[in-house]
This record gives sequence, C-alpha cells and structure tokens, in this order.
Amino acid sequence: MVSQREVKDTGIIDEPQIFELLEEARTASKEQALEIVEKAKSFSGLSLEELAILLQSNAPEVREAIFETARAVKERVYGTRMVFFAPLYVSNACVNNCLYCGFRKDNKELKRRVLSMEEIEKEIKILLDQGHKRILLVAGEHPKLNNIDYVVQAVNTIYQTSSGNASIRRVNVNCAPLSIEEYRRLKESNIGTYQLFQETYHNETYRRMHPSGPKALYGWRIEAPSRAMEAGIDDVGIGPLFGLFDWKFEVMATLMHAQYLDGKYGVGPHTISVPRLEPALNAPVAMNPPFQITDDDMKMIVATLRLAVPYTGIILSTRERPEFRDQLFAFGVSQTSAGSRTSPGGYSDAEAHKPDAEQFSIGDTRDLAELTCQMCREGYIPSFCTACYRSHRTGGNFMKLAKHGEIHKMCEPNALLSFKEYLIDYADAQTRVEGEKILAERLAKLSPNMRKKTEALLAEIETGKRDVYI
Ligand code: SAM
Ligand code: SF4
Repeated sequence: MVSQREVKDTGIIDEPQIFELLEEARTASKEQALEIVEKAKSFSGLSLEELAILLQSNAPEVREAIFETARAVKERVYGTRMVFFAPLYVSNACVNNCLYCGFRKDNKELKRRVLSMEEIEKEIKILLDQGHKRILLVAGEHPKLNNIDYVVQAVNTIYQTSSGNASIRRVNVNCAPLSIEEYRRLKESNIGTYQLFQETYHNETYRRMHPSGPKALYGWRIEAPSRAMEAGIDDVGIGPLFGLFDWKFEVMATLMHAQYLDGKYGVGPHTISVPRLEPALNAPVAMNPPFQITDDDMKMIVATLRLAVPYTGIILSTRERPEFRDQLFAFGVSQTSAGSRTSPGGYSDAEAHKPDAEQFSIGDTRDLAELTCQMCREGYIPSFCTACYRSHRTGGNFMKLAKHGEIHKMCEPNALLSFKEYLIDYADAQTRVEGEKILAERLAKLSPNMRKKTEALLAEIETGKRDVYI
C-alpha cells in the first residue's frame, strides 16, 4: 500500500498552464486589463486568465486602477477594521534544512529551545497583559521534541492561561504537515485556523530549497491543507514565501490552490499570508534571495489577491517595515501581527530575543500599544474580535455570510466591542482619546437597529462585562 507520505505530484498545481497563461497575458491590451478591474468591483473574484492579465500589466494607468479597486474592495468587505494577533514561537528545534530559515538543522549557532508548559504560560501572560486575544502558535518540525502531543499540550496550556479576567480566545497554529489522524487531534484541541505555507509552488525550486528532512516532500505538504479539512478543520491558511521564485507564478499558483480547495471542499482558504523573505542567521538563501521582491511587487501581490479572492483574509506579519506596512494595509490586508518575537521565549526573556535564537529578523518593531494608537490616527479600528470562531461561524458558514455581505454587518459592531474592551483594559490615555473618537465615528455609521444593539453592549462592557459579541 502507498503510504500517505509518498504522495508526490498531486496535480493541484498545473505549472505548464500557469506559465502559458502568463505568457499569453503579455499580449493583452490595456483596455482588456481595465475591463477586468472594472468587473472586480462586483466582488466576484478573478479567474486565472484574468489574474494573469492583471499581473502582466505594467501600464501605470492599469496599476493605479488595480490599487484603487483593491482599496475599495477592502473597504467594502473589511471596512476599516484590522485584526491583531501575536505569534508565539514555542520551539525552534527542527530536523529540516530549509535554505532560507534560521531554524534549519545546519545552523549550529542557533540556540535551540523547546518551551516548557510553564514557560508558555509565562509568555502568554505577557501577551495577555498587552491586550492580545489571538495567538498564532509556531513551531519547527521535530518528531520527538515538538510532535503532535507537544503541540496539543501547548494549545491547551495557552487556552487555560489567564491574567486577571483575560484569556486567549483563539489559537491558530502554524506547524509542520500532519496526518489526518493528527489533524483530528488538533481540531479537538479547539484551534481556530491551521496555517501552512507551501513556500514555493514551483516544484523544482521547492526541491532545491528543501534538500533534506520530511519537508523535502512537496506532495505531502501541498496536500496538508486538504488533510486538515478532511479532519474537520474548516479554516485553513495558505501562502507562498515570496522571494524563492517568480512572484507572479506564486500568486497564480496560490489562486489555483485556493480554487482547488474551494472546488473540493466547497470553501476556499480562510486566509492567505504574504510573507516576504527576510534575512536569517546562517540561512544562505535568506541572505541572498533568488528573486528580489520590490515594494511595488508587494503592492501588486496584495492588491491582485484582494481582487482575486475578495472574501479571503490577507495576513501580513511584522516582517515588513512600518511605513510600508501601512501602505499595504490599505490595499487589502485584514490581519496583522504586532510586537512579534520570532524566538521561543522572546517575550519574557531578553536573552532569547537575540539573532542567535530568532527565525528571521523583524522589520516592524512597534509594540501593540504603539501600533493601535497609530492605526486609530489613520482611521482604522484595531480589532481583537473572535466572535465568528466562538459562534461557530467558520468554514463554509462563514463564507456564505461573507459573500452575502452579512458578515460585514456583524464584524463592524464586533470589532467595536472588542476594541472597547482593549481601550478600557489596556490602552494608555492618549490611545483612549484617539480610540473613543474613532469608535464614536464608526458607531454613528451603523444602521439604527445595529447601533442601538451595539450601544447597549458597549454599556455592558463599561460596567465590567467582557467577551461581549454579536
Ligand atoms: N516549521 C513549520 C514549517 O516550516 O511549515 C512551521 C513553522 S515555520 C517557522 C513558519 C514559516 O516561516 C515558514 O513556513 C516560512 O514561510 C517562514 N519563514 C522561514 N524562514 C523565513 C525567512 N527567512 N523570512 C521570512 N519568513 C520565513
Ligand atoms: Fe524548520 Fe519550518 Fe524553518 Fe524549515 S521553515 S527550517 S521546517 S522551522
């Protein structure tokens, strides 16, 4: 019998078709491209052919139209909300040798650390005291030190930890591919999204980047989100690591992967992440990326994805530097991390937060307090909302509501409610002033019924009630 791990070419990504579509799109006219952008205003997404034409258009007029429409789509589907989370690196032990990652096995200078449950608790208390409610658990791949037993125990510990009356309300997980049985255990531990990046969808590049260890198996990895869905995890996150191969190919392949999941399970990925390669200790490819991704490329990546899959969340991490991150937010990013540490123990232990323990270096070092204040000034509503997950509005249920515009009606008040909690419990005086101002502005824009309902819940929060949502 063929073991699950021997799965090779799964047929999910049709490389020749992607190259062909990109080649054909070179001859598309400016008018054709503008027509596609016009069509995207109806939130119907893009086909692969249409996406290829937008990716290949260099005319400033077309690019401007893409950016403007992406801004409008983002505004309409996500309003001015920005959901915040904090990554929690629990272990940097790894048996793989990915050429771009500081955690690779051959990096002998890296201080390896697998957090104990007590240490995880300590880290979580710090994040809770900053106001975080959503955690992304991240781990290297090690069959003994951080296997499924360890990950499940870590998830349980995160949920069980509290500080005052606060606790983490949603734990998402980014760990190595698992078997269906193992995904079932992850699901039982009540995780939110299972996230896994394919790194590069280009098979040959993938093979070069992953010379040894279990990650060398392309097929085992690309089938992982499908296995997770089969195990009942209905929110999965995907994404390439930009810089390993041609970004246009990767964006096309990401849409192909999303379409595959949608076709097979009736729901596409819940989120797409857009990490760009960052420098990392003793990681040859990270220090010298094979494909330079410019800021303009990043803008096109976010904007075209926003048009291609309007209802899929786009996640940007702290990898990007502040002034540029703010620009990408406007084009379609709906979730972001703040004050991140990419080393196990990095929040509670200053020693751990050093290059010889980190996965890669971070471009935006602003902490959550600084970022929330800044975002309020720019007219955003920082959101810590976990209402959908807590009300079982996940997977297909979520998408159905999103596509009918219903989710927007609930997200806006829920974001306001979660932000109100943050303002009362964690914000400094200045943020409170800025925050209350924007809160009042957004409240005034709700429908009369929803405003009344939200005002009543806001009053409950003022009297001390927490975890309030619609
Ligand atoms: N070990 C698991 C895996 O490889 O899927 C999960 C954790 S891994 C630390 C999470 C992600 O970090 C990887 O999927 C990769 O995309 C990203 N990453 C690795 N090296 C990076 C670098 N130098 N710059 C930016 N992101 C990087
Ligand atoms: Fe290990 Fe993941 Fe880093 Fe690869 S990307 S070395 S699997 S932690």
